[in-house]
Amino acid sequence: MTGTPHPAAVLYEHVIPPGRPWSRVVRRGQTLRIIDSEGQQAVDALFYRADDPAERYSAQDTLRLQGSAYIGVGTRLVSNEGRVMMTVVADTCGQHDTSAGCCSCESNAVRFGEPTKYQHACRENFLLELAKHGLSKRDIVANVNFFMNVPIDPAGDFTVVDGVSKAGDHVDLYAAEMDVLCVLSNCPQINNPCNGFNPTPVRVIIWNAS
Ligand SMILES: [Zn+2]
Repeated sequence: MTGTPHPAAVLYEHVIPPGRPWSRVVRRGQTLRIIDSEGQQAVDALFYRADDPAERYSAQDTLRLQGSAYIGVGTRLVSNEGRVMMTVVADTCGQHDTSAGCCSCESNAVRFGEPTKYQHACRENFLLELAKHGLSKRDIVANVNFFMNVPIDPAGDFTVVDGVSKAGDHVDLYAAEMDVLCVLSNCPQINNPCNGFNPTPVRVIIWNAS
């Protein structure tokens, strides 16, 4: 279930343009690879049980279960019902956050000033993509930020700082237990360093792991 997918096993491949959303059901036994094509690009992610989206990713339960504040190899992404949705089986970057949340027009206005309120944001991407699956703003929960560097200092403070992902870095998510609706936002943020102030494309690949 790890390593480079065999070309014959690849079921799907897609490039998500800068600033755009994407979603797809990753079936049980399949692996989703998210590739940071050019480096320093945050990818915000939400996960729902495909046949019952009331069961969804829980950042709180995921962190509590693993006893660590970060997402990395071996992290089991756990649902609000305590089941494992996906497992991180490969990671060439080493910095993924699930504490800082996603950017929104409202938070941009508060953090970076009123003129930024009209810039596109991850929350809007999530709303657009969730609508395709009959879901809405009430279904947005605390998300994962792949390739986003949010160090927590000894005092417990954290800040979004320069991303450390290099061109071609990737993370692999294996759906061992259930079919999972994966919803991504290729983050459009240009006011902090999470995207190197220059949003770039990311690539997704899905293959049969078995
Ligand atoms: Zn964002």
